[in-house]
Amino acid sequence: MKHTILSGITPSGRLTLGNYLGAIRTWVPLQRDSECYFPLVDLHAITVRQDPEAFSDRCLDFIALYLACGVDPNKSAVFVQSHVPEHGELAWILNCYTQMGELNRMIQFKEKGAKHRENVNAGLFCYPVLMAADILLYQVTHVPIGADQKQHLELTRDIAHRFNGLYGTVFQIPEPLIPQAGARVMNLQDPSKKMDKSDPNDANIIGLLDEPDAVLRKIKRAVTDSGSEIKHEAMKPGISNLLEIASATLDVPISDLEERYRGKGYGVLKDDVADAVIETLEPIQRGFRQIRADRTELDRIIANGAERARSIANDTLNLVTESIGLIRRAGR
Ligand code: ATP
Ligand code: MG
Repeated sequence: MKHTILSGITPSGRLTLGNYLGAIRTWVPLQRDSECYFPLVDLHAITVRQDPEAFSDRCLDFIALYLACGVDPNKSAVFVQSHVPEHGELAWILNCYTQMGELNRMIQFKEKGAKHRENVNAGLFCYPVLMAADILLYQVTHVPIGADQKQHLELTRDIAHRFNGLYGTVFQIPEPLIPQAGARVMNLQDPSKKMDKSDPNDANIIGLLDEPDAVLRKIKRAVTDSGSEIKHEAMKPGISNLLEIASATLDVPISDLEERYRGKGYGVLKDDVADAVIETLEPIQRGFRQIRADRTELDRIIANGAERARSIANDTLNLVTESIGLIRRAGR
C-alpha cells in the first residue's frame, strides 16, 4: 500500500538549517512514492500572539522556501492550514472526544505555558487536538516526527481508536515514521540544546535566508570545547554539532571527516563548515528570491494545494459527521 505522509511546520520565527536538514530536505525523496501533505500550520501559530503583517509575510516566505528546497507542488499538497476549514471543524468535533486529563498530561503544553505565562489560552491547551485533526483528516499512514511530538502522535492515535471504537472504522491509525538519520542540528551558542526557529537570539541559529557573511560569522563564533581534537563524542557537543552539519551538507560520513581533520585545528573545521553551509544555502536563496517575487504564481500554487487537500479533507469530514449523526449539509 502506498504511504500517506503528513508533516506540518508552524510559521513562527524563521526557518533554520535544522528545519532544512532535519525535516524539509527529508521530504523531497518521500514525494517519489508517497502521497504527501505539507500544511503550513498557521492556526497553530496563533496560540501565541503574532504581529499581523509580519505573520502573513512569514507564511509566504515559508511556502516559498519549501518550494526552493525542492518540495514539488505538482507531486505534493503544499497548502496553508487555514485555507482548509475542515481542520478547524474536525478539531472542534475531536475536542468533544478528548478528555481534559489527557491534554493536562501534555508536556509541550506545560513547557509552552511556562514560557508565555501572560497568555495561556485555550487554543494552546487544545493544540494537540488540532494536530490530531490535521493528521486524521487525510487518513495519514505515517507521520515523520521528532521526539518532541511523540506524545502528541500517541494522543492522536488514542483519539482515533476511541472514535473508531464508537462508530466503526472512520480513521486510519497513523504510525510514527522515525527519520532515517535526519540530522539534528544544535544551538550554536549552547550545543546541549537543539537549534529552534523561534529562538529570539539570532547568534544561536543559522537561518535559511542568512547572508554568507552572517553564516561565516556565526559559525566562527560557535561555542566549541576546550582541547583541540576534532572528534564526534559526547564530551565535545560543539565540535560534534559542527561535524554533524558538515556531514549532512557535504554528504560525507562523520568518520571520514574525523580522518580528514586529524591534527588540524578548530579554525580550519569552522571555515570548511561555513563554506559547506553557504554553498548549501546559495541555490535555496536564489530559488526563494525568484519564487517570492512572483506573488501571482505563489498564490496559484497555494490555492491549488488547498483545493487538493480539501477534496480529501471533505470526504473524511463527511464520514465523521455522518457517523455522529449531524445532518448532512446541502452540497457537501
Ligand atoms: P519552534 O521553536 O517553533 O518549535 P522548531 O525549529 O523546533 O521551532 P518545529 O515547527 O517544532 O520547529 O519543527 C519543524 C520541523 O523541523 C520538525 O519536523 C522538527 O523535527 C524539525 N526540526 C526542528 N528543529 C530541528 C533541528 N534543530 N534539527 C533537526 N530538525 C529539526
Ligand atoms: Mg519545535
